This record gives sequence, structure tokens and C-alpha cells, in this order.
Amino acid sequence: MQYPLSPDVKPEFCSLGSFMRLPSSREGARLAILGMPFDTGASYRVGARFGPQAIRQASMLLFPYNPVYKVYPFEETRAIDVGDLSVIPHNIHRSYDIISGQVEELLRAGTVPVGLGGDHSVTLATLRAAAKVYGPVALIHFDSHTDTWDTYYGEKYWHGSPFIRAYEEKLVIPEKVFQVGIRGTLNHPGDVDASVDLGFQVITMRELRRRGMEDVVAEMRRTIGDTPCFLSFDIDFVDPAFAPGTGTPEVGGYSSFETLELIRMLTDFNFVGFDMVEVLPNHDPAQVTALLAATLVHEYASLVAVRLRTAER
Ligand code: MN
Ligand code: MN
Repeated sequence: MQYPLSPDVKPEFCSLGSFMRLPSSREGARLAILGMPFDTGASYRVGARFGPQAIRQASMLLFPYNPVYKVYPFEETRAIDVGDLSVIPHNIHRSYDIISGQVEELLRAGTVPVGLGGDHSVTLATLRAAAKVYGPVALIHFDSHTDTWDTYYGEKYWHGSPFIRAYEEKLVIPEKVFQVGIRGTLNHPGDVDASVDLGFQVITMRELRRRGMEDVVAEMRRTIGDTPCFLSFDIDFVDPAFAPGTGTPEVGGYSSFETLELIRMLTDFNFVGFDMVEVLPNHDPAQVTALLAATLVHEYASLVAVRLRTAER
């Protein structure tokens, strides 16, 4: 091996850091952080390839204990950080294969993957792996966009289409797909109606505000039950006043506090994987977006730890 590493060995944008200084492997790991620094599925601003580094950097501010659930999430799950995957910026399909392969390996080992994006196109690769292992899964998708646009610039694979592709590839159970936080201006009504036509449950931000998070979460719990479920979180779900560092911000979202409360409410789901996508550090002046993303990952790990504890009882 020659140093510095050639991009043919590891791309330069791949982080060598580790989330909360976790080890890269240990016996019995039930949770794994992995970077997916692919951002050339983005339609407007790029830069999410640096998201995993920024989230890991911000994670240094976090302490190990979660007082809300009274857990040490990263110890109780024996969490690891396997680093960034060597995605290929010019080739979405090869990048997908790399991501799917690694995620499938983790899932088969009984480890819950937490993917750090990257733009939202990476979620399709993760869902492919999840469906291979579990069959079609339930999905809770937080975003201000439905990401069920068919094509852009004539291309089918990009960050605005992962969920229509997941539907076509039968990776998800349509009636168990919840898209929450949808808002903003559209090209035409079809941008949101497309999701409804697929049979997805679309909860706009206005509906979430009007009904309240307790009611919406109760509906998700009733509908999804114990079906293996994936949680995908586009940071633009959060109001840009709290999360400015993202590619396609939409005003009128939840605050950081409301978002944390919402995620904390998601106990009793059979989560088989998570991701945190669309963090763009080059638009994140005080690193608040990355800090929120890191804190939400802490909450994901806490949900897994709580479930492990319940299973042991
Ligand atoms: Mn998205
Ligand atoms: Mn979005």
C-alpha cells in the first residue's frame, strides 16, 4: 500500500473519522454506522459527500448516556463505525452495488445499519439490501419532499426518485409507507399525488401540525405493527432555521426540539435500518445541521437499545 492512498483505493472525500470514536469492529455488534458519501444524485446543490465527515465531527460533542430512555445506546448495542463506503461519484449504479453489498452483509450479521448520506438516492440501495434479507419492508420517511418524481433531466436514478423506484422494484409494502413532513412549492399537483397513487400514506407538514405527532405516530404504529421497518430521514424535514445545511431547503418545518420529540416517540417499531441524508456541510455555517443529525443518530441508537432491552426481558 502506498500513502497517501490513491483515489482508486479510497476516494479522497471518504472520512477516516469515527462516530463518537466507536471502534470499526467488535464482537456482537448490533448497530453499525456507515458513511455513504455519494452526492451526484442531487439535482441542485451538491456537497452531501462531505456529510458523513461533518456528522462524525459534530458527534464529538455528544455524551454517551441518553437520559430520556435511561440507556447507553452505543454500549448496549455494541455499536461500531465501519467507515465510509468507496462509492464512485460518476457512477450511481456501481455506487448502489457497493452500498447494497455492504448493507446486506451487516443485516445478515444481525447488525442494524445507520447510513450517513450522501444525497437521498442512496436510500434505494439500502432498501434493495433490506428487501433481499427481509422481503418488502415498511418505511417511515421524513422529508419535505416525497421523492417519488419519475425522472429528471431524463434520468430515472437521482435523489428525487428513490421511493418510486423502491415501489417499482417491490422493496416496500406501499400501504406501510409513511411520508411525513411533505411541504413546499411544486411543479404541479402530480408531484405529491404520485405518492398517493402508489398507495403511500402522505402526511403533509400541515397535517402533522394539525393532528399532532402523537396521533400520527399512533396511526403508523397501528398500520405498520411489527413489520420490519426502515427509517429514512432527509434533514430538510427540519425547518432551515434549524437545519440550513442541506441541498433543497423548504421553510415551515419542525424545530430541532420537535423533531427530537417525534423520533423519541418511535418506540415499539421493528426497525431494521436507518439513514440520515442530505446534510451539506458547505451550507452549514455553525455546524448546527450536522450537530442535529448526529444527535438524531444518538436517538436512533437509543431506539435500538430500548428494543434490545425489551427483547431480553
Ligand atoms: Mn429526500
Ligand atoms: Mn427533501
